[in-house]
Amino acid sequence: MRQKIENIRNVAIIAHVDHGKTTLVDQMLRQSGIFRSNQVVQERVMDSGDIERERGITILSKNTAVHYGNTKINIIDTPGHADFGGEVERVLKMVDGVVLVVDAFEGPMPQTKFVLRKALELDHPVVVCVNKVDRPEARPQEVVDEVLELFLELEANDKQLDSPFVFASARGGYASEDPEAREGDMKPLFEAILNHIPAPEGDADAPLQALISTIDYSEYVGRIGIGKIENGTIHVNDEVVVLNMHNAETQKKVRITKLYEFDGLQRVEVKEASVGSIVALSGIENIMIGDTICSPLKPEALPFVKISEPTISMTFSVNDSPFAGQEGKYVTSRQIRDRLYKELNTDVSLRVEDTDSMDAMKVSGRGELHLSILIETLRREGYEFQVSKPEVLYHEIDGKKCEPMEAVTIDVPEEFVGNVIEKLGARKGEMTNMAPSKGGYTRLEFSIPARGLIGYRNEFLTDTKGNGILNSIFDGYAPYKGEIPTRSQGSLVAFESGEAITYGLYNAQERGDLFIGAGVKVYEGMIVGRNARADDMDINVCKKKQLTNTRASGSDDALRLTPPIQMSLEQCMEFIGDDELVEVTPVSLRMRKKILD
Ligand code: GDP
Repeated sequence: MRQKIENIRNVAIIAHVDHGKTTLVDQMLRQSGIFRSNQVVQERVMDSGDIERERGITILSKNTAVHYGNTKINIIDTPGHADFGGEVERVLKMVDGVVLVVDAFEGPMPQTKFVLRKALELDHPVVVCVNKVDRPEARPQEVVDEVLELFLELEANDKQLDSPFVFASARGGYASEDPEAREGDMKPLFEAILNHIPAPEGDADAPLQALISTIDYSEYVGRIGIGKIENGTIHVNDEVVVLNMHNAETQKKVRITKLYEFDGLQRVEVKEASVGSIVALSGIENIMIGDTICSPLKPEALPFVKISEPTISMTFSVNDSPFAGQEGKYVTSRQIRDRLYKELNTDVSLRVEDTDSMDAMKVSGRGELHLSILIETLRREGYEFQVSKPEVLYHEIDGKKCEPMEAVTIDVPEEFVGNVIEKLGARKGEMTNMAPSKGGYTRLEFSIPARGLIGYRNEFLTDTKGNGILNSIFDGYAPYKGEIPTRSQGSLVAFESGEAITYGLYNAQERGDLFIGAGVKVYEGMIVGRNARADDMDINVCKKKQLTNTRASGSDDALRLTPPIQMSLEQCMEFIGDDELVEVTPVSLRMRKKILD
């Protein structure tokens, strides 16, 4: 018989970056008595890492569990970006409600809309936490109205429109139903969660069914599957059957060797866990997202969850530029290869393959953003390597060349509609829908070749002055749409200005207007030499036809910049003119001498 598991709540937390999600969960942990006095209180419990923070997104969902009275609240972080759309859905399906954290001054931001929309569509109840009420410029009442407006726009159901609002200062450690309160504790937030978000439901006596939603990895036990028990009970050493998309019929039994639940920030080993619980388990060698762990008595798969297919690949290779070895600790092909293979343990939408060259690996991922975050992560860990321009992965279907397509949803203020339609049209996007949405925004939907989106995200941010939201999701393969002409300005920089570009970061656009080579950075729209000792290098800018002979300068097709090494992107574009491809590489004195020779 199905019953409610009253002592558990599973909630996802949704917040725009910097609105205080980490601080809030930290406070909930402290006040729930998770930390015993001899335990060091970690500063940032859900910190999603530097890169994610800088980019305003969270990449991996993380689990934290807090206790309030007799109830265990599993709090799951939601990724905020569209390239991880599949992951958002998986996380939201594990929970029975969400906590929306909104800054009491800034109000709701467009980037949280995507995740909130998904949560509302699943009919999840919402607890709204208006955070940072202690800020002098806080305007909690207006923010309440803005949140309600957003709910209306996203077609919230009646219950969602009736969501409780809690006014909090995560920093001050208090929450209240009264927007004017400036003291107290977090109790009102805990109470709102308990009262408003339903307990999970399931049948404890039915045969086991648990759906794996996330994969983790540990050196000791290997792959770990994390998911929710939908029915039944699981014990350590149980024999189970794993069903997935590829073998919906298998009867092969495997043994669960270790079982964990979450407690605070830790994974703690348990002997058994029951319906409603979010667990981690090991012992299943190739456990994958979407697998259903079942009882052998009655193996029945839960609905499969889609994993986004890789659509773009890049080659990662040993840095052979004149500056090799200057930046990183790990530079050999073996080190780079090992690190990339390790990444496969936790990133299910990544693919890594060897190539004909010992020194190069083909890395395929979900999109430009996915791969650029990987590159930056590795770089910060001390790896040094070069990457190629991204290429889309074509498929042959019935003897025809087919290419990956993306379904794109864009919300923009009306004034930018023309610009978006024009730009995506030029990139072979076909508009499939256009409708006014609330607050002067217009919603546009496109079907577009994945390669048409390369480089567009940055351009879109600039074009819409940061006010647009762009989400895309893999949409199958379609016959090759032919060459995409033109390059468009503004797509020069793969990483935002201020972000160092080192070791062969490419220009974001597939057609390649500009290749930013090793040792060059872009700062606030200026291309500058990486090395502060400017006198030992300059930058060589070459047009495509010169690429075979790039280091030659002094012709009309190459522009040599001598120190101080800097050039604005506009200058660079002007120089490129109608030409297709430009390479920008630093040239050291050593190189220059070679060229002159
Ligand atoms: P996250 O990106 O959503 O996880 O946000 P953080 O928890 O990292 O908070 C972002 C910034 O806002 C940090 O500098 C926090 O100290 C600050 N912050 C968080 N909560 C509050 C609050 O209640 N009041 C004020 N004034 N600042 C806060």
